[in-house]
Amino acid sequence: MKHESILYRRFGVVALVFIGATGLALNAQRTMANSMNDIAERYVKLVLALGERDPGYVDAYYGPPEWKKEAEQKKSELRAIDAEAAKLIAELGAAPAGPPADDLSRLRREYLRRQLESLRTRVAMVSGKKLTFDEESRALYDAVAPSHPESYFQASLTDLEKALPGTGALIDRYDAFRKAFIIPPAKLGQVFDAAIAECRRRTREHVQLPASESFKVEYVTNKSWSGYNWYQGNYHSLIQVNTDLPIYIDRAVDLACHEGYPGHHVYNALLEKNLTRDRGWLEMSVYPLFSPQSLIAEGTANYGIDVAFPGQERVAFERRALFPLAGLNSERAELYYRIQSLVDRLSYAGNEAARRYLNGEIDRSAAAAWLTRFAMMSPPRAAQRVKFMDDYRSYVINYNLGKDLVKQFIEARGGIESQPQKRWAEFIALLGSPRLPSGLE
Ligand SMILES: [Zn+2]
Repeated sequence: MKHESILYRRFGVVALVFIGATGLALNAQRTMANSMNDIAERYVKLVLALGERDPGYVDAYYGPPEWKKEAEQKKSELRAIDAEAAKLIAELGAAPAGPPADDLSRLRREYLRRQLESLRTRVAMVSGKKLTFDEESRALYDAVAPSHPESYFQASLTDLEKALPGTGALIDRYDAFRKAFIIPPAKLGQVFDAAIAECRRRTREHVQLPASESFKVEYVTNKSWSGYNWYQGNYHSLIQVNTDLPIYIDRAVDLACHEGYPGHHVYNALLEKNLTRDRGWLEMSVYPLFSPQSLIAEGTANYGIDVAFPGQERVAFERRALFPLAGLNSERAELYYRIQSLVDRLSYAGNEAARRYLNGEIDRSAAAAWLTRFAMMSPPRAAQRVKFMDDYRSYVINYNLGKDLVKQFIEARGGIESQPQKRWAEFIALLGSPRLPSGLE
C-alpha cells in the first residue's frame, strides 16, 4: 500500500502543478520537478543494481518492490552501472535550476550528485581499485578523519592510569573494574526495554513521530557489529543486538538511542515522512550503506545520546532505573561514567588502527594490539573490531568523526547544551534533511 500512496502523491503534485501552469514560473517548477524526479528514480535503480553486485550495499529499501525485482533480473554489469552514474551526474549538472529553490531543494541536487560520485567509487572498489584509507573515506563518505600520533592518546591513558589504581596492564585493570557492570544475560531484555522506553519518551517530547512508528528488537550472535538497525519502511525498524561478547550497562542507553530514539529509527522515519512521502523524493527510499549518508546517520545516532540525555541526566536515569533492573550497585554509577568519559576520549584511536591496517602498514594482530593498547578494547572485542574493519573498512570514521561534525554543526547554529529546545530543533531539522558531511563544516 505505502508504495502506491507515495507514487500517487508524487504524481498528484505534478498533476496539480500542470493544471495551474499558466505562468512561466509554474512551468519552470514543473520541468525542474520532473527532471529531478526522473533522475531520482534512476538513482534508486542504480543503487539497487549495485546492491546485486555488492552484498551489504543496500542497507534499506522501501520503494516500489518491482524495481528491486527488476534489478535482480537484470543483474547489470559494473561497467554499465558506472556509465549510467556518470550520465546521471552530467544530467544533474544540466538540469534546469528553476526559480529560486528552497534550502531543501538545493540540498537535494547536491546530495544526489555526491551520492552518485560515491557510488562510482564503490563500483571502482568492487571492480578491484585500491584506495588509501583517507582517499576512500573522502570518496565514499565525503570526509577525512584527522590523524593523531600515539602521544595524543597517551595523555588520556595517563589519566586512566591514575583513575584505575593497581599494578597490572591498564587493559586488565579496566576489564577487572568493568566486570561489576555487565548486564546479566537473563536481564538483557528487561534492561533494554526500559532504556528504549525512556529514549522514546524523551524523543517524543520534542519531535512528532508518525503515529504508527514501531520497532522490534532481536538478539543475535556471530556478527562483527554490536548492534544494527534494519529499516523496513512504513516507519518500522528491526533492531538487532549482538550478544557475542559481554554487554556492559552503558550499552543499553547507547543502543536504545543510537539504533532507536532519536537515532537511526527516527532518522529513517523522518526521512520517509518528510522527504519520501510529503515531497515525493523517491531517492530517500533507498539507503546505500557505503555513502555520505552514513556519516550523517552514524553521527546523528551518536550525538543523539547527548541530545536525549543532557548533562547528568543519563547517570541519574541509569542510577534510578537501569542499575537496579540489572541488579548492579547504583552507588557506583557515577564512578563508572567517570571512567567511561576518559575512555571516550580515545575514540579516534580506532580510526588510527584502521588507517594503518587498511593501508597495509600493520597486520591484523598488530591492529588488534593497537586497539587494546590505545582504544582500551579487550582482546576479544579488539578481534571483533578488526573483523568489522575487514567488512566495513573506512566506515569506522562515521561514528566518531560523524558525531563531532554533527555536534559542531548544531552548536554553530545555537544548539548548545544550555539551550535544549534549540538543540533539539536543530537536531531534528538535520535528521529530516539531505545534508552532506562536507556541508556540516
Ligand atoms: Zn549505527
